[in-house]
Amino acid sequence: MNALQSFPTSQGRVVVEALITAIDDNAETLSEIDGAIGDGDHGINMRKGFLLVRSELGNEIDLSSGLALIGDTLMTRIGGAMGPLYGSFFDEMAQACSGLERVDATALAAMLEAGRAAVEDIGGARVGDKTLLDTLVPATEAFAGAVTDGASFSDALTVLSVAAELGKESTRDMTARVGRASRLGERSRGVLDAGATSCWLLLTAMARSIQQRLG
Ligand code: ADP
Ligand code: MG
Repeated sequence: MNALQSFPTSQGRVVVEALITAIDDNAETLSEIDGAIGDGDHGINMRKGFLLVRSELGNEIDLSSGLALIGDTLMTRIGGAMGPLYGSFFDEMAQACSGLERVDATALAAMLEAGRAAVEDIGGARVGDKTLLDTLVPATEAFAGAVTDGASFSDALTVLSVAAELGKESTRDMTARVGRASRLGERSRGVLDAGATSCWLLLTAMARSIQQRLG
């Protein structure tokens, strides 16, 4: 596999570290966003999970084991709606790259697709409900589209990040239809969704960390 077009899974630690840092650096902002229409704990929940991951992360960890550690930690050790949702997302991503020596754009597209499907199956939400899916679905689709169109891995990752940001921003004009914020009905409109924001942070951090390792 072309080194410019693939990421060695033996360097999984850099991706996991990037994800931890993205959440740790933005935990206050995430809780503030959740506070507007939720209970203000999103950043606390996420930081708790990702700091647990950091404390258990070995020096060398392949991408699949690292993503599985995130998945299991979020699934079993944090509270809130996010535990099972992000837990399954990372678990599915981990399984989809298990045994691979390198991850190329096609492999990452399959990983993201598996993760997206799990979040939809478990949470039952759809695009437009003002959840993390409003970031995840358009980002995943844009990435897969760029790969199909023959974009380089790095360019496809840029497409992923741009779509994730637009998706996150799109939640501002939405009324929450699932989760805690849905109790506010129309009053949930006008602010970002916390999960959509953390998802944007995670996807862009992942994209950047992989791009830095592509030749
Ligand atoms: P809680 O709502 O239990 O306080 P968090 O604050 O950690 O949990 O997470 C809130 C985020 O969870 C919301 O911003 C939304 O993006 C996401 N969310 C809630 N329910 C669902 C669902 N069914 N599917 C997808 N995402 C959801
Ligand atoms: Mg909350």
